[in-house]
Amino acid sequence: MNYDDLFQTQLDALKTAGNYRVFANLERYRGNFPRARNHAGGRGPDEVTVWCSNDYLGMGQHPDVISAMHTALDECGAGAGGTRNISGTNHYHVALERELASLHGKEGALLFTSGYVSNWAALGTLGARLPGCVIFSDALNHASMIEGIRHSRAERRIWKHNSVEDLDRQLSEYGPDVPKIVAFESVYSMDGDIAPISEICDVAEKHGAMTYLDEVHAVGLYGPQGGGIADREGLSHRLTLIEGTLGKAFGVVGGYITGSAALCDFLRSFASGFIFTTSLPPAVAAGALASIRHLRRSSSERERQQQQVARLRAKLDAAGIPHLPNPSHIVPVMVKDPVKCKMISDILLEQYGIYVQPINYPTVPKGTERLRFTPSPAHTDADIDHLVQALRALWSQCALSRAVA
Ligand SMILES: *Cc1c(COP(=O)(O)O)cnc(C)c1O
Repeated sequence: MNYDDLFQTQLDALKTAGNYRVFANLERYRGNFPRARNHAGGRGPDEVTVWCSNDYLGMGQHPDVISAMHTALDECGAGAGGTRNISGTNHYHVALERELASLHGKEGALLFTSGYVSNWAALGTLGARLPGCVIFSDALNHASMIEGIRHSRAERRIWKHNSVEDLDRQLSEYGPDVPKIVAFESVYSMDGDIAPISEICDVAEKHGAMTYLDEVHAVGLYGPQGGGIADREGLSHRLTLIEGTLGKAFGVVGGYITGSAALCDFLRSFASGFIFTTSLPPAVAAGALASIRHLRRSSSERERQQQQVARLRAKLDAAGIPHLPNPSHIVPVMVKDPVKCKMISDILLEQYGIYVQPINYPTVPKGTERLRFTPSPAHTDADIDHLVQALRALWSQCALSRAVA
């Protein structure tokens, strides 16, 4: 048996389909976001502009965050030294959980090593431990939620994306004594659309279901203090559980859930993915804490980001470059072909110093391949002009269809 041949056959199939992932090799410069040094070995210029970062506000280089991390590193050393239960709970973890609970107006919060792990562990544990539980999952939920639900072995019902009617219909098939979880996201990361949270809560309440909201692409970015879309709409109290990440707008790494004291204690006590792993380094917790505190006080990053998003959209419209309209900060430019999508991304990097990763299947459905741009407060007007000019040239070169302006 030649195992490498078995691996290679499947990799070759990915390459043929145009879905093989090639990573960029970049070195981000602190103080100069979104610029990065390009280590692609002669492929493209030495310096590029990053256009697809989930460090949406550039908080990964904010002086408060960097300084808090330095201080904690000097105080506490590198690692946490254990699981949360066995010597790995540092004062910074405790302070961060308090801050997160307060941010979302909840009684408690629980940290995980990533947003992925928080979804996987929380849904996995809830679905497995609530007897006879049925999980109602939005059709476009993130892989981490899907895997958590699968792992729970609970019955799973998939409802049509953002369709309150379909959710209502499916919930009504179960009696009032069946424990139910409605799992969904606020901002969907690939299309940038936003769930009708209030209506979903109405339907869930009507059927006695708990609500599980992934706000990963919204925390830090929406609401008066960056608590997310539920915060912006005054709905946080209606959600049973809000999940978020410290790795995107907060610019560090880690994940969390917030909810009632009993819910947090339940997951703290039963979630394997919380219990049996080394906790986040104290410096990471300190950095995330500084980032959250900053974004609770300051709205200027959010405002400037929204300005640059609007600016990019207007310029794309003027150039006839098709992009998905949506009410969020995510600007998906549709190419609808995996090979062209990769090719355009390569040319943007090599000839224009613009880094945007192609988004192909299975991240998005086949035929909806796209370039996903995430303008930040640090992208200048000149950066936007340069990007749109490059896309305009490539759209002609690659004979791609234009939007009707
Ligand atoms: C990125 C992402 C996650 C995972 O968060 P990480 O902190 O990156 O592990 C969870 N949910 C959604 C919708 C995401 O896009």
